[in-house]
Amino acid sequence: MSDRSSELTNSPTHQIATSRHRGWIEVITGSMFSGKSEELIRRLRRAQIARQRVQIFKPLIDNRFSERHIVSHSEMRIESENVRNSDELVQHVHDDTEVVGIDEGQFFDANLPAACNTLASQGKRVIVAGLDQDYLGRPFEPMPQLLAIAEYITKTLAICVVCGDPANHTQRLVASSDRVLVGASGLYEARCRHCFDPHLAGEPEKR
Ligand code: ADP
Ligand code: ZN
Repeated sequence: MSDRSSELTNSPTHQIATSRHRGWIEVITGSMFSGKSEELIRRLRRAQIARQRVQIFKPLIDNRFSERHIVSHSEMRIESENVRNSDELVQHVHDDTEVVGIDEGQFFDANLPAACNTLASQGKRVIVAGLDQDYLGRPFEPMPQLLAIAEYITKTLAICVVCGDPANHTQRLVASSDRVLVGASGLYEARCRHCFDPHLAGEPEKR
């Protein structure tokens, strides 16, 4: 019933302090191929169309990802800046930026929630997309901490490639115990809880 502005203008002091500075945190989270990047790009494009001042960031993981775009698995893309960590991200945000988009939140350091809090408290709309679980199904820090402090959370699901049920897991198809193994096709696929097998990644030559 109540919209965002009424939430923010409940008390008279807030009305004065936030009537033109409505900051909050939105998180888009789910497995790989669930449409996180598509949804992030959709929200950021709408903000750009509305002529809001938008800045978009992703973590510099390795050279393969130094391209200055966020690219979805469906080839949607939007220009972005690379940053090494969350401190650098905050430093790169301009005073007059209204919307901050961040992709691959799970590859940031533990200070990402604090960084998002700082930006939201400055009145910026902060939108973060990221994996909620790693290849073993464990919560992928710092996304759980970010979910706890976010005003808005969108959970996205893919389609299980084995059975067609809603897929909440990222199945790693190659043997590796590295938490971060960057890549997509051939390395990972979306699976539901019944078809997900965390041991698959630990057993060489199984596929
Ligand atoms: P994410 O950021 O969550 O990894 P993307 O937004 O990059 O997801 O990509 C979503 C797109 O991935 C879908 O629109 C679809 O084209 C493609 N895709 C590939 N495999 C699947 C799957 N198993 N279920 C749903 N979409 C899939
Ligand atoms: Zn399944």
